[in-house]
Amino acid sequence: MDLLTLPEAPRLPVLDAAGAEVGTFPVGRIFCVGRNYGDHAREMGHDPDREPPFFFSKPVSAVAPGPVYGLPGFSGDIHHEVELILALQARLDHADEAEALAAVTGAGVGLDLTARDIQAEAKALGRPWLVAKGFDGAAPCGALRQGGVPALSAPISLAVNGEVRQQGTLDQMLWPPGALLAKLSTLFVLQPGDLIFTGTPAGVGPLRAGDRFEGKIAGLPTLYGAIG
Ligand code: MN
Repeated sequence: MDLLTLPEAPRLPVLDAAGAEVGTFPVGRIFCVGRNYGDHAREMGHDPDREPPFFFSKPVSAVAPGPVYGLPGFSGDIHHEVELILALQARLDHADEAEALAAVTGAGVGLDLTARDIQAEAKALGRPWLVAKGFDGAAPCGALRQGGVPALSAPISLAVNGEVRQQGTLDQMLWPPGALLAKLSTLFVLQPGDLIFTGTPAGVGPLRAGDRFEGKIAGLPTLYGAIG
């Protein structure tokens, strides 16, 4: 007998190619990759040619229902990072790239919200990024499109109040999805319900109360939201 009842997993709508909802994806865990686009690595002061990818995670409580998202009061500098998100349906343990890609059951657009001031302090003090990256609501996610990884030629962008802030294409990823998932599966046994944030192109910047945002990847459901 269980002695308590856990909260239900947050669920992302899953849409077919025509946009009809076919079900939901319960989010179990969230893994993220840092500096996976060279131009973003450079804007953060790093040389992408000299650094292998590194991973971090967010608690599942980072997925909050939208479309209005609150920001934490402890930071004065919450940045947007628009990212391709991948939803896994299968276990992956030291998978090769083909196995990794076959485990993807849906793809969508997410924001890796980052408390840049808290992150800068953590970097300076050699502390973890948990608070900077994992606060409640730090992972706004749009609906998922059922199926595998989208074409890597697809553009990815984020507009805030109608102004394009971030722009790139998925093929700018230093570690594309198959290689990224294969590598991650050597560090953690990946599970159904895992949601992977695959990194952000350049142009990150602050979000403020009242801002409206639109995250887009060609062929995937748009992430619409506003900051409350
Ligand atoms: Mn990110």
